[in-house]
Amino acid sequence: MDLDLYIDDNVRLWQQKIRAFADEHLIPYEVEAELNDGVLPDDVKRRQHAVACELGLSRMDAPKTHGGLALGQKTQVAIWEQFGRVTNGLSWCFAEVYDWMFENCTALQLEKYILPLMRNETHVAYAITEAGPGSDAAGIKATAHYENGMFRLNGEKWFVTDANLSDFLIVQALVVGGDSDGEHAFFFVRIDADGLTINDNPPFSHTFAAHHPTYGFSDVMVPEADRIGKAGDNMTFTYSWFRRERLMIAARCCGAAERLIEEMQEFARTRELSDGRLLDKDWVKFAIADAATDLYAARLIVYDTAHSIDTGADLKKQHARCSMAKLFASEMVNRTADVAVQIFGGRGYMRTNAAERFYREVRVDRIWEGTSEIQRLIIARRVEKDGLKGL
Ligand SMILES: Cc1cc2nc3c(=O)[nH]c(=O)nc-3n(C[C@H](O)[C@H](O)[C@H](O)COP(=O)(O)OP(=O)(O)OC[C@H]3O[C@@H](n4cnc5c(N)ncnc54)[C@H](O)[C@@H]3O)c2cc1C
Repeated sequence: MDLDLYIDDNVRLWQQKIRAFADEHLIPYEVEAELNDGVLPDDVKRRQHAVACELGLSRMDAPKTHGGLALGQKTQVAIWEQFGRVTNGLSWCFAEVYDWMFENCTALQLEKYILPLMRNETHVAYAITEAGPGSDAAGIKATAHYENGMFRLNGEKWFVTDANLSDFLIVQALVVGGDSDGEHAFFFVRIDADGLTINDNPPFSHTFAAHHPTYGFSDVMVPEADRIGKAGDNMTFTYSWFRRERLMIAARCCGAAERLIEEMQEFARTRELSDGRLLDKDWVKFAIADAATDLYAARLIVYDTAHSIDTGADLKKQHARCSMAKLFASEMVNRTADVAVQIFGGRGYMRTNAAERFYREVRVDRIWEGTSEIQRLIIARRVEKDGLKGL
């Protein structure tokens, strides 16, 4: 299923490189990861990491002025779509830096935190969500009291993905005192900082090496130099990051749907029932046709949204379109995973089956980076303001 309008030679080249990486170095280790709490042997992880480094994946969103690849959104979508074909979070084998970091971090912060991340020497986790406000990040209660050139952080953060594998956190808190009194800000916090505690580490549906612990902050002292951005910026830089994250989740959902369709088609082709081949049942053919049509629609939304960002569409439009891409693609892949399990029958309920793992794993794509309901609110607000032309 090709999208000739969007996939030029460069995008196709990346698509092929990442597909080969996934097929050779990631997919063959999925079952081993599933049976070992997501953890793979060190030599396998080292190999995966080395290939990711060689491809320059950590630098895909970084500007060329800092040694980045500055790939367009279409190319990044093609990369993450191929990684979406992989289960167990195995494609998270490299650190990532983002364009917004280079525009908002000081030279010292780039040197200390961002460039080592881009060189794949360190890892970072993001601590934004809290139990109370949840989806409404504007309502967070964690505080950063400013005193004599230092910030004192207090609060609790939930779902800090990757924290068990990370060297530092980026934490969102409400500033109290100083120039930014009452504003939200991001802070770099070392994972071994005094006053930082793991309050809980619950198991989640998927089997990933990356955990999602709850962190407590009790008088964690952060120097002013480790605050990201400046007074009055209202953290507007985070919007481009949200857009990218939502679009890349949507791209991964498309990759997952592609793999699911291939897997269910192949199983139905070879599964002989007492009265004939499974693929010859009308309901199976229709289910595959619906899933393929759903995927085509999702890919069109995802690639067209990426194209609109690459060609400088109005920011409000970009924002709503990224929400539409995430909403549609995440709901689409959940439908596809459900029908894939049904086609596999009892085999689809085994954790060694890719359909079973996707069934659990893609569920979170309707929740993180803004739930489907939050995406709908964003889209509805846009339509309310400017009508359909606002999209
Ligand atoms: C596996 C996993 C990893 C995560 N990783 C991270 C991470 O690394 N860093 C981080 O900061 N966060 C992370 N999150 C948090 C994630 O972004 C939140 O779970 C998500 O934003 C939803 O917030 P919530 O869970 O508090 O749900 P709630 O906000 O409590 O929502 C509950 C329900 O209410 C609905 N709802 C909420 N507000 C409205 C509204 N205004 N109108 C209508 N319905 C509404 C929601 O759609 C949902 O159905 C992760 C979550 C998971 C599950």
